[in-house]
Amino acid sequence: MTELILKPGKERSVMRRHPWIFEGAVAHLKGRARTGDTVDVLADNGRPLGRAAFSPHSQIRARMWSFDAEETIDHAFFKRRVAASVAARAALPELSGQQGLRLVHGESDGLPGVIADRYGDTAVLQLNSAGAEKWRDALVTALVQATGCARVFERSDSDVRGLEGLEAKTGALHGGEPGDIVIEEYGVRLEVDIRGGHKTGFYLDQRENRLLARQLAAGRSVLNCFCYTGGFSLQALAGGATSVLSIDSSGPALEGARRNLALNPQLSAKRAEWRDADVFEELRALKKAGARFDFIILDPPKFAPSAAHADRAARAYKDINLLGFRLLNPGGLLMSYSCSGGIGVELFQKIVAGAAADAGADARILRRLAAAPDHPVALAFPEGEYLKGLLCAI
Ligand code: SAH
Repeated sequence: MTELILKPGKERSVMRRHPWIFEGAVAHLKGRARTGDTVDVLADNGRPLGRAAFSPHSQIRARMWSFDAEETIDHAFFKRRVAASVAARAALPELSGQQGLRLVHGESDGLPGVIADRYGDTAVLQLNSAGAEKWRDALVTALVQATGCARVFERSDSDVRGLEGLEAKTGALHGGEPGDIVIEEYGVRLEVDIRGGHKTGFYLDQRENRLLARQLAAGRSVLNCFCYTGGFSLQALAGGATSVLSIDSSGPALEGARRNLALNPQLSAKRAEWRDADVFEELRALKKAGARFDFIILDPPKFAPSAAHADRAARAYKDINLLGFRLLNPGGLLMSYSCSGGIGVELFQKIVAGAAADAGADARILRRLAAAPDHPVALAFPEGEYLKGLLCAI
């Protein structure tokens, strides 16, 4: 097999089980490898380190499939890895029985570049690396075997595919075209648009945080900013919020939110208001109009995809959090998130603290929040910790 030889010292990160080998860590390739091919990874002194998928177009030149240099990368390998990933979810009480569930979370599940989400009996597969692309068929078979899903649909249209030299690809892979998909999440019915929705259709990572919002909502007026298809809004209504104002700048997302509300006749529709607006502008308008809320949720999109964007992103987070604190009633709650990989937990807390200080708010952290446990973070891969949140009270 083709060998990828690392530069002296560059074996250290691989030996700590970090799955990425950057372009600059590679001394040379002994033999030939095409995009996505499996290569043996060796230290400068010839010590075998494991096997990886080769990606000639990406700065991440190879991604480790296995840290066992003897392990064969074949259909059986993907069957084992996918089965282990699915079994790990089944073992957690809050995940067992969920209709919407992340089954495979890429690097942190030992399958770099592979995302698989389950919505009822449809699995949605997103392949984000050259290696993952190469093993599409094996992954589909493994997913069907491990889950019994009737259908597998592909949503490989994320931005990162471009960096790997891959074109976008979407469509049915197994079991034919899926029909309309509705999942139930803690008693709330939600339509999932696997073809055109964000990510694979839905933000599964916020599931447990939406449940927390529901538990906090009773008797409170709620403002849900960046509401997408209304996940937090509907849980807040289910929890007994007196009113829920939801803001998003995407027309299709708000249409989805309205349909989702209609799917849940048990909820009080007259307490819900949807507003098509830019959150930055609307928060200012609300402030000017003298509006106040008891519970504000801020779940913005990724402002900083990487550390290089951190400065501008930090200003944007500060801005909305400052406005959020200013719009709270005394005793109010602010639930604030960042899903930017480029903003770490500590920096995010600093930004929110700065916003509270500027708002003159005496705020404290009640809870530190993160992605649901079907989005694990491998200890060897801290980059996987993208979603962080704070529940603050004033
Ligand atoms: N909280 C949601 C997910 C939010 S995703 C859930 O639990 O499902 C972020 C949302 O922010 C997207 O729906 C996007 O349309 C919206 N968005 C992005 N920039 C915006 C802006 N400046 N103003 C309002 N909405 C915005």
